[in-house]
Formats: sequence, structure tokens, C-alpha cells
Amino acid sequence: MTTEIIGFIGLGHMGAPMAANLVRAGYSVCGFDLSEAARAQAQADGVRIAIDVQQAVQNATIIITMLPAGKHVISVWKELMALAAPDTLLIDCSTIDVENARKAHQMAAEHRLLSIDAPVSGGVVGAGAGTLTFMAGGEKAAFERAAPVLAAMGRRIVHCGDTGAGQAAKICNNMILGISMIGVCEAFALGEKLGLSQQALFDVASTSSGQCWALTTNCPVPGPVPASPANRDYQPGFAASLMLKDLKLAQAAAASAGATTPLGAQAAQLYNLFNAIGCGNEDFSGIIRMLRGKENKQ
Ligand code: NAD
Repeated sequence: MTTEIIGFIGLGHMGAPMAANLVRAGYSVCGFDLSEAARAQAQADGVRIAIDVQQAVQNATIIITMLPAGKHVISVWKELMALAAPDTLLIDCSTIDVENARKAHQMAAEHRLLSIDAPVSGGVVGAGAGTLTFMAGGEKAAFERAAPVLAAMGRRIVHCGDTGAGQAAKICNNMILGISMIGVCEAFALGEKLGLSQQALFDVASTSSGQCWALTTNCPVPGPVPASPANRDYQPGFAASLMLKDLKLAQAAAASAGATTPLGAQAAQLYNLFNAIGCGNEDFSGIIRMLRGKENKQ
């Protein structure tokens, strides 16, 4: 039985079910969120709730953060620097910019704390089912200590390299996903104009060189893949607003690293437009309707 005691900050759509899975795995977990609704949901799922960050991490040997963006992580981690005992392991599972991820690691190292960045893929469904993929960055010792805890919330855990490597892997992967989804949508829109049935295009492309996750798992037209959000009027799924967030992070990273990512830039612009016309809450595959010139929610 593990002796690790976990403080969990950020009990939103992802954090609450992740914390609940840790409780199910036998960990002692105490959580905090600024939102009352989030606290109530986590409590209903079996998570012990604290009145503030300080109480949540009081006896913690491992502290997990699952927050919206880099500025929230830096602000909470600054608070943690004064609260965490030496050798406490900090794990940030949020998706944030590489620069702030590295800054957070540096703060932790200066305070003799271990740290890893460990963003996830798999969404709310994966968080609930405990089937997330974790992409981790940080020192080997920190990763090895985190691994059993991550395994209680996920199915696949990859050590991607040094500090920030988890965030780098996450935004590179999601840049591929954003670009490939737009490619699949354009192909269906073109096929329709050419009188090709959606099923015929799917049958060919899904077993040919056009094969990709955006086509075979998250197919943007209803029918060929019954579980894809297109069959539920594009209810997420993976919200387009989150895809836009990740594409913007990729563009910021590309600018600071001097990488040339013209298709990533184009994908960010198209998802920006899709959000601007009021579709940010749709699954990101819903962009096919905009590409056909049919979607406008305002
Ligand atoms: P969310 O907005 O539902 O949850 C974030 C929570 O953080 C909120 O409940 C908010 O009240 C809380 N919070 C903010 N500042 C705080 C503070 N100072 N102290 C305590 N709590 C604070 O977001 P989410 O969907 O759970 O996503 C969390 C992270 O995971 C994001 O970085 C997101 O990009 C990433 N992510 C989300 C998904 C998804 O499908 N939702 C998938 C992969 C990755």
C-alpha cells in the first residue's frame, strides 16, 4: 500500500474525475478548487475537500495541479513554494505553454522540490474511465516516483524527456490533430461536391494512405464511425475552443523556438474563425460545417 498523500488543486472537468480515480486506487486525496460547483462535484465523487490550497496540501507528499492555463499554474505553484515540504513531488497535468512549464520546474528546483509536467490526452471520457495518456517531462527520479500515481489515472505514460518535454509533445501532437482534422474535412467537402458518397470515401481513405485518427476515430461526418461526435450533432468530444487553445500554444512555441509551421498557423486561424462564429463548444470536427460554408451561430 502506498504511503503517498496527495493534494489535488483544480477539480474541474478533468481534475475531479482524475482525483476520484486516485481515491478509488486507495490514495489519500485532499482537493481544492476556487469554484463551489467543482468542489461539490469532486466531493460527490469521493474526494475530501479542503477550504483552501494550504489545507489541501498540508500533509501532502505529492501535489497535482490541473488548471486552465500557464498563469494559473504559476500563481498556484508560487503559493506552493511556501507550503510544500522538501522532496515533495509536484505534478502539473494542465496543458500550458512550454515557457511557463519550464519556469514552474525552475521554481520547484530552487525550493528543493521534485517536479514533472504531465499533460494528458484522452479528454473528459478518458479522465473518468482512467484511460488517459500522460506525456511527462522532468528528471528520471521525479518521473519514476510519479509513475504509479499517473498509472492510477491513465493507461499509457510516456517519459518524453527533460523539463517541458511533456508539454512540447502535447502541443506537437495536437498540432498534427488540428491540421489532419481540417484535411479530412476538406476531403469530405470536396468529395460531396464531386458526387462521391461519404461512405465510399471513408472505405477507401480509412484503408489507404489518407488513414488517420481524425478520420477513423473522430470521423467528421455521421455514419461511417458510429461513435464519432458527428453522430451526436458535434457534441464534444474535444471542444473546438480547447483545440484553438492548443494550436495557439503551438504557435507561441514555434515563434519562440524559430520553427516554421505554416499549416499549424493556418489551422490556428481556421479554428479561431470557427470559435468566433460561436462554435467553440462544438466538437472540433464540427469545423466541416464551416468549411462547407454552412455554419454560423450568430
Ligand atoms: P476546467 O476549467 O473545467 O477546470 C479547471 C479548474 O481550475 C476550474 O474548476 C477552476 O475553478 C480551477 N482553478 C482555476 N484557478 C484556480 C486556483 N487558483 N485554485 C484552485 N482552482 C483553480 O478545465 P478542464 O477541462 O478540467 O481542463 C484542465 C486542463 O486540462 C486545461 O489545461 C486543459 O487544456 C487540459 N485538458 C483538457 C481536456 C478536456 O477535454 N477538457 C483534455 C486534455 C487536456
